[in-house]
Amino acid sequence: MSDAALVFGGGANFIGASFMCFRFGDTFVGIDWGGGYEKRAQDGPQYEGPLDHLLLTHGHFDHVGLVPKAARRWPNASIWATADTLALSTWLWNDSLYVAERQGRPMPFSSADIASAKERVSCVSYYQTLELGPDLMVTVYPAGHILGACSFKLTYKGVNYFVTGDISFTDRNITPGAPHLKLPHCAVLVRESTYLGKVTEMNRAETKNALLADITATLRKGGKVVIPALSIDRAQDTWAILHEAGLTKKWPVYMDGGYAVTRIYTERASNAFMLKHADRVRNEEMRYALRSSPRAMIVIASSGMLNENTPSYWWTGELLSDRKSLIAMVNYQHPDTPGGRLWAEREKNWVTFGDRLVENRAALKKYGLSAHMNHEEGDALEERMRPELIVYAHGEDDAITAYVTAAGSRPTRTKAQVGQEVLL
Ligand SMILES: [Zn+2]
Ligand SMILES: [Zn+2]
Repeated sequence: MSDAALVFGGGANFIGASFMCFRFGDTFVGIDWGGGYEKRAQDGPQYEGPLDHLLLTHGHFDHVGLVPKAARRWPNASIWATADTLALSTWLWNDSLYVAERQGRPMPFSSADIASAKERVSCVSYYQTLELGPDLMVTVYPAGHILGACSFKLTYKGVNYFVTGDISFTDRNITPGAPHLKLPHCAVLVRESTYLGKVTEMNRAETKNALLADITATLRKGGKVVIPALSIDRAQDTWAILHEAGLTKKWPVYMDGGYAVTRIYTERASNAFMLKHADRVRNEEMRYALRSSPRAMIVIASSGMLNENTPSYWWTGELLSDRKSLIAMVNYQHPDTPGGRLWAEREKNWVTFGDRLVENRAALKKYGLSAHMNHEEGDALEERMRPELIVYAHGEDDAITAYVTAAGSRPTRTKAQVGQEVLL
């Protein structure tokens, strides 16, 4: 019998609280320790076993949001991440404390936990191979998803296990797509399933054109455009799209919130130098002045899913009832967030927004500026890797079940589920 196994603690048949742990003989290698969006996942992943190493795929909240908690719980585990992921994670961890304090919520961890987590991280580079245990190597590959994102190939006793993490094969304005890898002897592929079974309605170029056309039409009639965007990557990607189309020169464009991340991108991403020209909303006074100004403008505001008491929440609350304005959603909206709830109510004349009822007169639209592989790219990945077993993680339960049920018997396909060990 094989002495390798895999168990999930989160980010399995749902998105949020990502964690998986491989057991290779006596060595336990975990990947990510993310924060969750829904109630069952808000305390983070569910896992009580041992942990020798923790590999981090990328600096998004659902993958690294609670790493300082994990670092405290397993004080001897070594943590591995790219320098870019460490920079973004550090911002995220500090921001979580800041937001918790401002909202009077309990702190998820302390500043001392952040400091000791940071100290424990060893930085890795793309294409580097690490030796993590007897007969156990890990190679780091670029995943294209955001700055510093990576996939991992774990090789145990000569057998390859490939974990995509969140992955994108499309070249975007700042972040290049992941390489189309082929692996010999790939026994197991653990892949993200965000868009599994979903129809790709528009490619990136078409999506960009649709977004730019709607923005330009709104500005020309004197409206304001608010683009709620994830602070990490989506805000910068969106600004770069506007810049490429010449809009940042023609119209006032502001970034409101998460500016420290833009600075990290400007300093670290190889082709993000133009972001240093981005104007930002410096304080509340300026925000109110912009709102009351009659000028047409674009505001790229965090948070991406309209969390309460964030700039995007404020701007959306202000502009929802303005017939001339456009609220342009450019990232995934989890159903349990204010953004997800607003989207679900988009056809109604009056919508609940926070604790008030607001007349819904602005245009509310979604643009799929995805940083995840689409369904077809997932198929092509499986084809290239030719694994014996495919584990579907980081997706919607129904979509994964439907796909796994309909697919043929070769290779073996299985849905990741929290707490259920898969023997490899
Ligand atoms: Zn991500
Ligand atoms: Zn994710």
